[in-house]
Amino acid sequence: MKIAIIGAGSVGSAVATAVKNTGFVHEIVLFDRDGVRARAAAEDLGHAASFGFDVKITAVSNYRGIRGSDIVIIAAGANQRVGETRTDLLNKNAAVIQDIMPRIMANTDVKKVKIIIVTNPLDVMVMLAHQISHMPPEHIIGTGTMLDSGRLRTILARQIGVSTQSVNAYVLGEHGDSSIIDWSSITVGALGLDDFCRQMKISLPQTTRNTITHRVHNAAYEIIRGRGATWDGISAAVADLLRCIINDERRILTVSCVSGRGTDMVAMSLPRIVGADGVIATLRPKLNATESGALRRSGKIIRKNFDAIK
Ligand code: NAD
Repeated sequence: MKIAIIGAGSVGSAVATAVKNTGFVHEIVLFDRDGVRARAAAEDLGHAASFGFDVKITAVSNYRGIRGSDIVIIAAGANQRVGETRTDLLNKNAAVIQDIMPRIMANTDVKKVKIIIVTNPLDVMVMLAHQISHMPPEHIIGTGTMLDSGRLRTILARQIGVSTQSVNAYVLGEHGDSSIIDWSSITVGALGLDDFCRQMKISLPQTTRNTITHRVHNAAYEIIRGRGATWDGISAAVADLLRCIINDERRILTVSCVSGRGTDMVAMSLPRIVGADGVIATLRPKLNATESGALRRSGKIIRKNFDAIK
């Protein structure tokens, strides 16, 4: 299994580490328009590989080096500075996707290759990659709200005192400020959240739920304020998604993928079954009226941003 990573910055190199540590790939190639950075990252990662799985990691100086890749991960582009939203990156990173996608298409088997998009604003970049390539929508997968869902599960699990592994909870819509938490579908073990809280005599009032929502929405801003960028959470999410595709695991993940055509075309995160063929099916969560309205608004915001690309 050969994986190409485009962009060898904070996220791209952390993704390379996480992917290497899955043990499921034999070769990783890194491309960055800053060749010195890509070579340095590949050198460092190559040394790290001597302590674990024997993965061949190289930097390539042009796109011919990605030939034969089964999966290409796009982690190139500007990241948020303190105070910036993901949408502030729109035109800068649209230009990056417009630069990268034709080169990927010229050097991979477009009928088979799977593209994982990490670059923000995530959902709009998924739409743009689809518009440029006309690849099957199920093969262009944005990490979407996988990370946000992971944040929600972590914060909620700590609040109610169980393992994160026992909490099923989804963040839907935009990977951005308009994302929504699907509170009504949360389960803890086999119990609905309210039932679990009743049995365990845990109080989870609306004010606590609002605080959790706020913490999930603001997690990236807090991390960027503290350490300049985020990379650990997203790289773990990418490795998890990659594992799901490589092993045809058919797990349900909140990834972003294009649906609809023409002016109805939009990409956003919904619970989707993911396997070797990419996105295999999309599940429609049962939302209450407020949640449905918020999800529709989130889709409209994504579409408006896509239409605003200059
Ligand atoms: P970074 O500045 O550390 O690295 C970006 C790299 O992209 C640089 O090395 C740069 O040279 C390279 N690059 C830029 N344009 C390129 C091009 N046209 N071709 C090849 N390489 C190019 O940034 P980062 O912190 O690694 O973030 C990368 C992206 O990931 C950002 O858009 C950021 O917002 C996004 N991100 C997404 C998530 C998520 O959950 N989806 C989480 C964190 C970061």
